[in-house]
Amino acid sequence: MTNPDIVIIGSGIGGATIASGLAGSGASILMLERGEPLPATPHTRDTRAIFVDGHYRPKEMWREAGGAPFNPGNYYYVGGNSKFYGAVLIRYRRQDFSEMEHYGGVSPAWPFSYEEFEPWYSRAEQLFRVRGALGQDPTEPFHSIPYPFGPVPDEPPIARARAELKGLGLHPASLPLGVDIDAWLRDGKTGWDAFPNTGTGKVDAQSGPLAAALADRNIRLETGAHVEYLEASSDATTIAAVHYRQNGTLMKVTPKLVILSAGAVNSAAILLRSPSPNGKGLANRSDQVGRNFMNHNSSAMLAIDPRRRNTSVYQKTLMLNDYYLSDGKGGKPLGNVQLLGKIDGYMLRANVKLAPKFALDFMAGHAVDWYLMCEDLPDPESRIMVDGKDIVMQWRRSNMQSLDGLTKVMRENFRACGYPIVLSRPFDKRTPSHQCGTVRMGDDPATSPLDPFCRSFDHKNLFVVDAGFLPNSAAVNPALSIAAQALRVADHICKTELVA
Ligand SMILES: Cc1cc2nc3c(=O)[nH]c(=O)nc-3n(C[C@H](O)[C@H](O)[C@H](O)COP(=O)(O)OP(=O)(O)OC[C@H]3O[C@@H](n4cnc5c(N)ncnc54)[C@H](O)[C@@H]3O)c2cc1C
Repeated sequence: MTNPDIVIIGSGIGGATIASGLAGSGASILMLERGEPLPATPHTRDTRAIFVDGHYRPKEMWREAGGAPFNPGNYYYVGGNSKFYGAVLIRYRRQDFSEMEHYGGVSPAWPFSYEEFEPWYSRAEQLFRVRGALGQDPTEPFHSIPYPFGPVPDEPPIARARAELKGLGLHPASLPLGVDIDAWLRDGKTGWDAFPNTGTGKVDAQSGPLAAALADRNIRLETGAHVEYLEASSDATTIAAVHYRQNGTLMKVTPKLVILSAGAVNSAAILLRSPSPNGKGLANRSDQVGRNFMNHNSSAMLAIDPRRRNTSVYQKTLMLNDYYLSDGKGGKPLGNVQLLGKIDGYMLRANVKLAPKFALDFMAGHAVDWYLMCEDLPDPESRIMVDGKDIVMQWRRSNMQSLDGLTKVMRENFRACGYPIVLSRPFDKRTPSHQCGTVRMGDDPATSPLDPFCRSFDHKNLFVVDAGFLPNSAAVNPALSIAAQALRVADHICKTELVA
């Protein structure tokens, strides 16, 4: 396939979902994925291999601007980062689509409303076979279709945590999850968050939309195909070719349409590296490509009761949005609280090097482990840059007051629930899990590289469909919003580009 109708770069949430939306359209589609499929080996459920030895981490270093190199937790496999994700498939709240004032500034609006986007969320939930329950969460936006399956059940220690939080007058709710718990546990008694998925237990980009897309014989996936740069036509109005390296050889493909879905960091890097007359890369008339990099401000919080063991295997079934829209006292938003997958001593060892293993095992065995997530706000100086082959990250954190506020109020809540020890630790730059914003969509070509259908304002046959398009990070996990927009863009492409 050297002249397919469409090339999709990347098989993560954005790339795989748009491929599924284009399946059956009759278009010939070539997907170029730099990674390979994840093999099923004993490492997949070995916490020491995953968290201490870094078995699955990329052999790649990024650099902090003016600082040290670091090994990012960014995964290159068929299915992308979703192979490791926590499978929380939650909608942005309706208010996230409008401007919202935070302690650290204003979160910008989307170029369309929640109401316009809602049907695409419903379709994405069906595609990812989301398990959830409506009516528990006070911030829940309108759903036109219920979840296709009931929620993943709380384990007994988590049912108790739910009751304790309710006892404080709070509203714990079931996490919407793309997890078939019976299938997951058949392959090993572990949690799924940050564990690689090689079966059907997690509905990730590969086991969900990619599997559906590849049933169409017009869609072909090439793995080990690392896209290096795009080439513009001589008048620069379109993308003429995609250049990629496979088995050491530089190859070229010349599709009619290009969909870039390499993830927020790598899509920006590909555009910035692509030759252009002004040296600023492609799709970058606005000079915003790579800018407005966001990644949630988040912390792990361990609520420990040395008198009670937490016997949970997977744990990750609850969230709390009581502080999502306000701090609860009429102040500004704080963020979302949700469970982490059950932590063990090896996972703690990856972060706390000096403590003896038995102490870490005791701590992990008596903790309920939470994830506090707050909105990071867009800032043009928070950005991804390239220096030759290197990726340079200049993450300017914003709105840290929200994380401080959420940490304080949740510490008080867990103490009130009877956990005498509450420890917290922020996640750092090596964890760019919720990267977004680097190729944002908007109405104005002067301030956004993409229009509201993720089409480049500069090159009419280029779409960027991954976390890069998100205009704000909100304070919930991003994957369902990326998937919903990918389905919306696929529908737009079918109606505007593939009509006979
Ligand atoms: C441990 C972990 C837990 C997470 N938990 C959740 C969660 O519970 N819920 C949630 O919503 N989100 C979660 N996320 C985030 C979620 O996985 C991402 O938001 C989502 O995968 C982003 O999709 P994407 O399409 O933007 O990019 P990716 O999933 O990163 O996909 C990009 C794809 O492009 C490929 N690629 C990159 N560069 C090139 C190139 N040059 N040439 C060819 N191919 C290339 C990559 O290999 C990859 O397959 C988690 C992430 C991690 C790491």
